Amino acid sequence: MNLLVDRIGELVTNDPARGRGPLGLLRDAAVLVEDGRVAWIGRAADAPAADRRLDADGRAVLPGFVDSHSHLVFAGDRAAEFAARMAGEPYTGGGIRTTVAATRAASDDELRFAAGRLREEALRQGTTTIEIKSGYGLSVADEARALRIARELTDETTFLGAHVVPAEYAGRADDYVSLICGPMLRAAAPHARWIDVFCERGAFDADHARAILTVGQAAGLGARIHANQLGPGDGVRLAVELDAASADHCTHLSDADVDALASSATVATLLPGAEFSTRSRYPDARRLLDAGATVALATDCNPGSSYTSSMPFCVALAVREMRMTPAEAVWAATAGGARALRRDDVGVLRPGARADLVVLDAPSHLHLAYRPGVPLISDVVHNGVKL
Ligand SMILES: [Zn+2]
Repeated sequence: MNLLVDRIGELVTNDPARGRGPLGLLRDAAVLVEDGRVAWIGRAADAPAADRRLDADGRAVLPGFVDSHSHLVFAGDRAAEFAARMAGEPYTGGGIRTTVAATRAASDDELRFAAGRLREEALRQGTTTIEIKSGYGLSVADEARALRIARELTDETTFLGAHVVPAEYAGRADDYVSLICGPMLRAAAPHARWIDVFCERGAFDADHARAILTVGQAAGLGARIHANQLGPGDGVRLAVELDAASADHCTHLSDADVDALASSATVATLLPGAEFSTRSRYPDARRLLDAGATVALATDCNPGSSYTSSMPFCVALAVREMRMTPAEAVWAATAGGARALRRDDVGVLRPGARADLVVLDAPSHLHLAYRPGVPLISDVVHNGVKL
């Protein structure tokens, strides 16, 4: 069975060889999908016959969003902490331990149900590729369990045993890092593609982060880092030094950090939902883009600092609060996320790419930022199948 997405008013391909500008825009287009892949792209007038047809009726179509940073496997919520923060209490990251306690106490099925519900919520909003981290287990068994559950939902799973030092290791960070690098990594690696560290004051310093990421890379995992979120630090430079796929947050950057990102293959992944939800200063996306760095947008969906699964919301924030153009934000939320996961088969629409696309209830991609908070995702095609 194949499917023709027909009468597309504006098609974002992210393939500049195919259309206009960096988004590779085509007008009056059609896309044929077959066996889960894009089989043909061209003018609607030239479209081949197909078994089934999805009439876009002049609306915009873009690649499905690639959310390269989420923490979906957890129990409980932290709405009260959010309310306290909005009343003036600062965000410190310490609330992670609250979620760790709730997650450890939950059954496998409770975690599986909660994570699956969030994955569905994201998919309905057009997220066709999602990365999911562990990091609320922080014991050998609980981290392995979180990754097994995440793996049921995505291939892009990330071992984040180095989220915070758990309470039972208070004052013994070296011992906890040894646990991560030994038994925890051995239990996690079979279920993970990536390894990540929260490199921040109050979490893990650069020496610990380097040790953890290096041993993870030796075990075959790709590196990514939570870096420079709450203050300046060594995280971004470490990410570049280790050829990490992505340095995530990038809120407090020195000129040297920006230069290092711009001259590397490490993507700067910005998570404006976190700044929104912690009422913090946004990262300077313009400075990164103008320096030539590759920028991705992701949700950071987690119960503490960014409880949104909405990539359209992040696009709107990026445009309004971080001075990205709508085209830059849409690229960063699709092709940028794919770069941050070192994927070339998603975040783009070209023959051979995975058939992941969204139909907007709008005539152009501009509306994602222009109409914030409005449910504009009218149809989602995932792996060639219309939801
Ligand atoms: Zn995160």
